[in-house]
Amino acid sequence: TLGRAAVGAWFGAFVEKVLAEEPNLTDLDRRAGDGDFGTNMVAALDHVDVAGIRDRYSPATVFESLSDAYLGHAGGTSGALFGVWFRQFYRAAVDAPQGLDTKAIAAAARAGLDTIQELGGAQPGDKTMIDAVDPAVTALESAVEQGKNPADALAEAADAAGHGAEATVGITARRGRASYIGEAARGVVDPGALVLSWFFAEGAQAAR
Ligand code: ADP
Ligand code: MG
Ligand code: MG
Repeated sequence: TLGRAAVGAWFGAFVEKVLAEEPNLTDLDRRAGDGDFGTNMVAALDHVDVAGIRDRYSPATVFESLSDAYLGHAGGTSGALFGVWFRQFYRAAVDAPQGLDTKAIAAAARAGLDTIQELGGAQPGDKTMIDAVDPAVTALESAVEQGKNPADALAEAADAAGHGAEATVGITARRGRASYIGEAARGVVDPGALVLSWFFAEGAQAAR
């Protein structure tokens, strides 16, 4: 199972990665949106204590601090959707204080996906974060069935999410602001999908 140290390493690396990529994320949303995605991410993540996440916080506190930061401080659609995503991991951690096994991770991701879809109404193929999360959840659920450990499960989820994010380059958007520009969104990777592919990639790295 993933305990405090692994969860701290995972989320510390995730936060640092997103902060470092802010210019690139903003540029993607400028090309297929309203140009505030990077700013929205930073507005949230400036309110988390990265050192606390890495070295002190319990897993539940790590997830709660991310969720609170997104719900309380990020503007835009992504703030609400990332906020509820991390909320489901917080719930999973409260239910499993001894650490997250593959089953708990898969259940949290499934609940997160369902909540994002309830709020945002997007389906796979609409060029949103769903295109990364949906295949990752499928990968996690089959990893549960195959009895895989969290490191292997997250590696497969990362692979699936990465391919899903890449596939958003070739499609136009049916949800979000990128849908306003039609064909012009083709050729631009969806920044929300990209960030969620990093989420699973950092998890796989930290769980090894
Ligand atoms: P806004 O569109 O309000 O400016 P952001 O720029 O912060 O929001 O976030 C844009 C990201 O949010 C997109 O890259 C996409 O992944 C995601 N997104 C937008 N609309 C939806 C939706 N209905 N369902 C899921 N994800 C969405
Ligand atoms: Mg935007
Ligand atoms: Mg906006």
